[in-house]
Amino acid sequence: MDRTILHLDLDTFFVSVERKHDSRLNNRPVLVGGTGDRGVVAACSYETRPFGVHSGMSMKMARMLCPEATIIRGDGGMYSDESKIVSQIIAETVPVFEKASIDEFYADLSGMDKFFGSYQLATELRQRIKRESGLPISCGLSTSKVVSKVATGEAKPDNHKKIEAGAEKSFLAPMHVQKIPMVGEKTNKVLYDMGVKYVKTIQEMPVEMMGEILGKNGILLWNRANGLDNSPIVPFHERKSISNERTFGKDTGDVKRMREMLRAMGENLAYQLRNGNKLTSCVSVKIRYSDFNTVSKQVKIPYTSADHTLIPQIERLFDLLHNRRMMVRLVGVNFSDLVTGSHQINMFDDSEEKLNLYQAMDYIRNRYGTDNRGNSILSWGTTIGIPNISSMGNPFNGDPPIIPAHRNA
Ligand SMILES: [Mg+2]
Repeated sequence: MDRTILHLDLDTFFVSVERKHDSRLNNRPVLVGGTGDRGVVAACSYETRPFGVHSGMSMKMARMLCPEATIIRGDGGMYSDESKIVSQIIAETVPVFEKASIDEFYADLSGMDKFFGSYQLATELRQRIKRESGLPISCGLSTSKVVSKVATGEAKPDNHKKIEAGAEKSFLAPMHVQKIPMVGEKTNKVLYDMGVKYVKTIQEMPVEMMGEILGKNGILLWNRANGLDNSPIVPFHERKSISNERTFGKDTGDVKRMREMLRAMGENLAYQLRNGNKLTSCVSVKIRYSDFNTVSKQVKIPYTSADHTLIPQIERLFDLLHNRRMMVRLVGVNFSDLVTGSHQINMFDDSEEKLNLYQAMDYIRNRYGTDNRGNSILSWGTTIGIPNISSMGNPFNGDPPIIPAHRNA
């Protein structure tokens, strides 16, 4: 049975987010990216395209081509937040989806036609994302990820396109080979040197020939050019554990310092749990001695995310573990066996004051976030210089790192 795969891609994502927060940028040429000497264009508005600007180009070059453009240094945190809003809407609408990058998603709508009509679902989802997030988005629908991604590219900006089953090959045929995902500059040059400019030429070549020229990749490329692609949707995962470890600048024998470090890491991780609405039931501590001998010990406990339960466990494990006179190179903490749940449910044994205290602390942490070195303002660890992993976003939502989507704006 044919699959039905939807690809969604936010249009000029970083630019759109900047415009959402500053409407003066509307209808103007805008470049977002690194502003230093070696900065690269991460996103460029459609107004810059007639000047020959494209994402992935050096900012220096883009600035020369389009001097009137407003140049904005990107704000990763703001983009992550907007991306999460869109992820949430998609999660509420479709049964399974993959987050391919910060602004790009795949969803498997196979079998939905029985109930709703996958094309209708796709177009309504696109409209809903636009309406609720305020960000323009385009989508493509077909029997595979590759063809849907190309269809999205053709639909842009702010539109949708459906490729019927059986029409994949003829849809791709007239396109430039670079439209196929995976044809980078190097592959393009090999193909160009052979006189291959359009997908149709690849379609007409024997698959063995592509294999001889480009190896395994050539065969994959031939399949893609023919609209053949079985790659599955990789569901948006949740993390099963979180950890933090720290190598001392200089090996140490200072037990007090090690305990402080572990305590601060435990506090950071417990905050991460609460922030991600998670509980752990397994705590583990690791020590690496200066001879690189590494030992660890773990303990199973009732599900919790409370500092006052977790920290004593960490300290107890450390005391059991640390039994050599040798200097210590690294210490680490890991929380595993995570489940979704609010910390209230396991805190029935705690006073209301204590519960309120955690809520108040986390509220302030969330509100004031991190300082310019990425440390949580309120984290105890800040005082001894332990970076707070919260500054890297919520570790539980499977967000891919913020990578500019060069190929598909
Ligand atoms: Mg995009």
